[in-house]
Amino acid sequence: MTYAKRYVVIIVGAGPAGIFAALELLKSEKKPRILIIEKGKDIVRRACPLKVKNISCTTCRECDLLSGWGGAGAFSDGKLSLSPDVGGFLSRYLDKDEVKELIDYVDGIYVHYGAPDHVFGDNAEDIQVLQKQASINNLVLVPSKIRHIGTDRCRVLLEKMHDDIRRDCDILFQTDAHNVIVQDGAFRGVRLQDGTEIKADFLILAPGREGSRWLEEESKRLNLTLLKNPVDIGVRVELPAPVLEPLTKITYEPKLLFYTKRFDDKVRTFCVNPYGEVVKEYLKGIWTVNGHSYADRRSNNTNFAILVSTFFTEPFDEPILYGRYVAQLANFLGKGVMVQRLGDLLSGRRSTHERISKGIVRPTLTDATPGDLSFVIPYRYLCDIMEMLEALDRIAPGVNSRHTLLYGVEVKFYSMQLKLTDALETEIPHIFAVGDGAGVSRGLIQASASGVVAAREILKSL
Ligand SMILES: Cc1cc2nc3c(=O)[nH]c(=O)nc-3n(C[C@H](O)[C@H](O)[C@H](O)COP(=O)(O)OP(=O)(O)OC[C@H]3O[C@@H](n4cnc5c(N)ncnc54)[C@H](O)[C@@H]3O)c2cc1C
Repeated sequence: MTYAKRYVVIIVGAGPAGIFAALELLKSEKKPRILIIEKGKDIVRRACPLKVKNISCTTCRECDLLSGWGGAGAFSDGKLSLSPDVGGFLSRYLDKDEVKELIDYVDGIYVHYGAPDHVFGDNAEDIQVLQKQASINNLVLVPSKIRHIGTDRCRVLLEKMHDDIRRDCDILFQTDAHNVIVQDGAFRGVRLQDGTEIKADFLILAPGREGSRWLEEESKRLNLTLLKNPVDIGVRVELPAPVLEPLTKITYEPKLLFYTKRFDDKVRTFCVNPYGEVVKEYLKGIWTVNGHSYADRRSNNTNFAILVSTFFTEPFDEPILYGRYVAQLANFLGKGVMVQRLGDLLSGRRSTHERISKGIVRPTLTDATPGDLSFVIPYRYLCDIMEMLEALDRIAPGVNSRHTLLYGVEVKFYSMQLKLTDALETEIPHIFAVGDGAGVSRGLIQASASGVVAAREILKSL
């Protein structure tokens, strides 16, 4: 069946990348006819049964935490990283000043829709002192300004964006884009799962990490060139908030880089959540770990990820599969996410509920299974994580305490990267790929900015 209406632009995915593409297109006087196809629900209908009924995960067909209006960002912590060096790879396509300008532009839109005025990490003097302290301990502190929306406020902001966009744009919720239709090398439209074909002139693919496997399969089918990114594997660390406070009060999200002595691997801190909570993330059959914090609710703990990036050697070229395999091992042994006290790991014994209860850190993720991460995480990664904890301890004493909790595993699947022009257009004209799913971004701000880049390019050719 062919849909009667024809569109100028179809956007697949209503995460930040898709939403900002739509906002930019609708700002123009040209007012192109737009359709957004989103496999999840509208923001007001998104509710994880786990949170609402306090039950175990029922593994819904589409996960309400990751899919729907707002994408993975809807229940995210809403930390907007305002530095071009953080949260994505836009600098591969644009020069740094252009990226900076774009970031300021999308940041302004977030503020317009309700993000708070306050920015963390803009005290240059304090940052310099921290940078010095980090460098004498072989760490690099990447300065990053952060605007913190908070998980609770994110939802309100997304509702407002939805209200504005839906007035001038069609939105299909709970609908999967199944195939991209290309005939004689030219983009024609999108086929839905029920076979319906919708015609359009331009396509913006913004399916996020949730849709990255679909995008990879479609790209292969369409003979688009795929480049590989490394997979990041690590743990989520949870400790008493005062331990990290000397850093978090200066820069909300201390981004620290370290090259390990033993393997010379790159290790970094990621997604620091002062007074936050550790959460589970369900991704196509596997449980991984993540974290967030609320603007108006505090736990006693701070959590952050330690991630190790490595490249694989030929002939192996399936980093996603490797990451999934390691995460599955934790699920297999821990029936979900596993937690271990650092002291137990170092003493070569598993954690138990009793041992965890003797610790001074109360786990905020209460249904993680106490276990032994040394059965799960490969030796190389474990060594890298231990070295990083030791290095961090030198600038924030207490990080390497035996009470520190490690949750496993945190895996970041940014493996697929499409070959794109500087305007984020694929090798097939009129098809653009933006956001996390295309390997362009790794966070809200750059995902949003990438949507703007594609929209502007389309507007130029209208
Ligand atoms: C728990 C958590 C906390 C986070 N915290 C932060 C943070 O504090 N700061 C930060 O910068 N980033 C954070 N992130 C990352 C951030 O949410 C993502 O970088 C961002 O959402 C990526 O935007 P996107 O639009 O590319 O993709 P997404 O937000 O993933 O949106 C993609 C959308 O496309 C839909 N989709 C996929 N395939 C199809 C298809 N075939 N048909 C129709 N629809 C489809 C999906 O359902 C989804 O709604 C967090 C992520 C998580 C999971």
